[in-house]
Amino acid sequence: MSEEKADMSTISFEENLRFSIKSEDASKYSFEEVVKLLESDAKYGLSWSEADDRIKTYRFNEFSVNQQQSLLEKYFEQFKNPLILLLLASAFVSICMQQFDDAFSITAAIIIVVSVAFVQEYRSEKSLEELNKLVPPTCNCIREGNAETFLARNLVPGDIVQLSMGDRVPADLRLIESVDLLIDESSFTGETEPVLKTTQPVLGKNNGVASKRNIAFMGTLVRCGKGCGVVIGTGERSEFGSVFKMMQAEESPKTPLQKSMDILGKQLSMYSFGIIGLIMVLGWFQGRPIMEMFNIGVSLAVAAIPEGLPIVVTVTLALGVMRMAKRKAIIKKLPTVETLGCVNVICSDKTGTLTKNEMTVTSILTSEMYEGEFTGVGYEPKGQLLVHDEGKSYLKQLDSMKLVLEVGSVCNNADVIDGELRGQPTEGAVITAALKISLNDVRDKYIRLQEYPFSSDQKLMAVRCIVKLNNNEKYFVKGAIEKVLNYCTHYSYHSESMLLNVERKSTFLKAAQFFGRKGLRVLAMAYGDKLDELVFVGMVGILDPPRPGTAEAIRTLHGSGIKVKMLTGDAEETACAISSRLGLYAFGSTAMSSDEIDNLDDKELEARISSVSVFYRVGPRHKLRIVKALQNNGHVVGMTGDGVNDGVALKKADIGIAMGKAGTDVCKEAADMILIDDDFYTIMGAIEEGKAIFHNIRNFVTFQLSTSIAALSLIAFATLMRIPNPLNAMQILWINIIMDGPPAQSLGVEPVDHDVLKQPPRNVKQPMITKELIFNVLLSAGIIICGTLFIFKYEMSDNIVTPRDTTMTFTCFVFFDMFNSLSCRSQVKSVFTIGLFSNKPFLFAVFGSIIGQLLVIYAPPLQRIFVTEALTIYDLLLLLAISSTVFIVSELKKFIYRVSLKRRKRNEVYQNHFV
Ligand code: ATP
Repeated sequence: MSEEKADMSTISFEENLRFSIKSEDASKYSFEEVVKLLESDAKYGLSWSEADDRIKTYRFNEFSVNQQQSLLEKYFEQFKNPLILLLLASAFVSICMQQFDDAFSITAAIIIVVSVAFVQEYRSEKSLEELNKLVPPTCNCIREGNAETFLARNLVPGDIVQLSMGDRVPADLRLIESVDLLIDESSFTGETEPVLKTTQPVLGKNNGVASKRNIAFMGTLVRCGKGCGVVIGTGERSEFGSVFKMMQAEESPKTPLQKSMDILGKQLSMYSFGIIGLIMVLGWFQGRPIMEMFNIGVSLAVAAIPEGLPIVVTVTLALGVMRMAKRKAIIKKLPTVETLGCVNVICSDKTGTLTKNEMTVTSILTSEMYEGEFTGVGYEPKGQLLVHDEGKSYLKQLDSMKLVLEVGSVCNNADVIDGELRGQPTEGAVITAALKISLNDVRDKYIRLQEYPFSSDQKLMAVRCIVKLNNNEKYFVKGAIEKVLNYCTHYSYHSESMLLNVERKSTFLKAAQFFGRKGLRVLAMAYGDKLDELVFVGMVGILDPPRPGTAEAIRTLHGSGIKVKMLTGDAEETACAISSRLGLYAFGSTAMSSDEIDNLDDKELEARISSVSVFYRVGPRHKLRIVKALQNNGHVVGMTGDGVNDGVALKKADIGIAMGKAGTDVCKEAADMILIDDDFYTIMGAIEEGKAIFHNIRNFVTFQLSTSIAALSLIAFATLMRIPNPLNAMQILWINIIMDGPPAQSLGVEPVDHDVLKQPPRNVKQPMITKELIFNVLLSAGIIICGTLFIFKYEMSDNIVTPRDTTMTFTCFVFFDMFNSLSCRSQVKSVFTIGLFSNKPFLFAVFGSIIGQLLVIYAPPLQRIFVTEALTIYDLLLLLAISSTVFIVSELKKFIYRVSLKRRKRNEVYQNHFV
């Protein structure tokens, strides 16, 4: 670690604060001293009132985004655009030539154009800022002796914070407890290996993050183990604060779409400049006034060059992301939105995503093969145990079942208090079942010495305890049945240990399969003096019902060409039973186990993976291989995950999807999208939005390009045909506002057309500007040019242009633009099908523009600026009739397209049936 970092830590604490302690000192002192210095208590923490007091001095544990530039500065930044500078120059020339009217008009136009650009850019910045606030981090903190969970921004120095596997460290902490605590500090040090943390003071000269082994730094990730620490630095006074400041300086990278829009904008600018140059030279040769040609040229450049395009794209993407957030899907980075519409395979885990993750033990089977059923659902300990064979001694059966649940409760970290679960659902289900048969305080009979935590790779958990009664040491184990049986040498039979032979083992495995076929998750229990000589006591079957709406979502996704694959840690029978219920495991699809995956090399896996829809007993390693194999087959993969170890697979997937509730911070960090409610249905909604956003962007690109081409060509044709210019500079600038402003922007917020989801995923390589789009643009532009020129020629007599002529032409163009924007709302559907009034912002934008246009025609001050004249109602009706042609033709074109599409589909069905 560089000296520089060390220096940062020394300046990151302000001396005048009451509890000012440098991380250097905090790491040298013992933790007791640090806690004392901070006037806190390792067990009790701070009181709520003290914390409230401290927050007044230390402020919230967050970073204020620098207001590096004032709004005024940002506004004046817009004037740096070379085109605007040219316009300013033209206003200046007008003043020098004492043409004050012109100078005033141009200045007014500049102010309007600059203001629209400023508002757009400001909105885009604001919405990007909002994105960062969507997933506020939480923390586990001790206040007044109780474990509390609240927003990490409320932490103050002196708070006692608990850390567990998968957490993101919420503030700089001096550790006071560390149990195998491994922390990933790569965000600071670049070192990918996690660091083992201690609580011991670090002696000698220490500088840099890496040497402070007893400090957990804000923003780093707990990879393994657990710990506890006292907060020594929050917000900008943490080490992360300095890194944050550096990060702020860096601009976030542009999305592929934004990049391609930039390129498109540049290309269009080049063409436009070429044409404008030509128009000006031609006009000059024709002997038109130089000043007029200059003004028209510059205004055309402002209007025709779609400088607003990249910004409108950013705003549309950002607004789309906000809408997704309302639908409970948080998108962390803008590029994700583009990829969403391309996803063609979703690998989903079962528990919590496809199922509710509300676990209830419904069945129990002891090693004596006594069977029972539990009534009741959820974590309310209301329900009964019904034993199957009441002929046998009930008490004996009950004792055996109690033993199963006692082992399950001791080897357990969950708590169920007043029907509320604290901990893992699988473990909570076991505790609830134990409570139903009055096993209330079994854990008090033991002192836990050690825990071997559950991992998706091992699929079991074990604890080593001392039995208080006789001081004997015992192991208690629970987990997947085949894993548990691997450690068992005996099984319990009426309080005796019998040798576990192959036959018995297979009987237990068959019983587990029977549970599995009913869709139950199986959890086996064993205990013993030694870990490799355990006594098997029985198993429970846990019901986790499918989420409502999931089957329907899967059907819709299948219908739109997106394959859904289930990846689960559960056994084959359970996985297949649930997936059949969800319509995932249909005729022709197969299931594959983790062992099979291990036995296949990458090429073999790629060859077989397409037909597999259920992967069972898989761990994080397998998930990664599955994603890679699918990607190598050319798929765009969305992958869900919740555990610490899912991080790698989530990163590798094209869209990593983390669970908001069950997901660890590590997993959320690696993901591109977070599902707030862990619901699979949300993924479908997000894909729908992703596709819709892309459609919307295509729609306003079509609109902007057609307006831009029409305006350019109109002036170019007029110059070529040696007729006067149909639009003056001010009018062209007004058209620019409509093109880049509200009507274009509101096309970007067109509500999701649910039929969009039925369309197959977009090919990632498909460019935005397709042949179809070019055709649509040219068609609309062609109609606008013909219609406007017609009106101009119709009005003009003897090549003399009166204000009435330009007013008619100008209004005609604006009306054309309004109708054109209306038809651009959908490329395929009729506007009447999607609903004339379904896009409210669009309605406001169009009405606003029309009112603006009427003001320009009828309000005397504006008449002077725009050189316009009042029109009669008959004029307006004529213009409406002519300009509506662009809408009528577009509706006709869409109709023909729909009919031919239907015919093509019918032919396909016919061929499939009879050929
Ligand atoms: P899914 O992929 O469907 O969400 P998962 O990957 O979360 O499932 P795991 O949690 O890895 O699945 O569970 C796999 C198996 O491990 C379960 O079938 C169960 O037998 C066992 N198991 C699950 N949770 C625990 C636990 N807390 N303690 C012991 N064993 C467990």
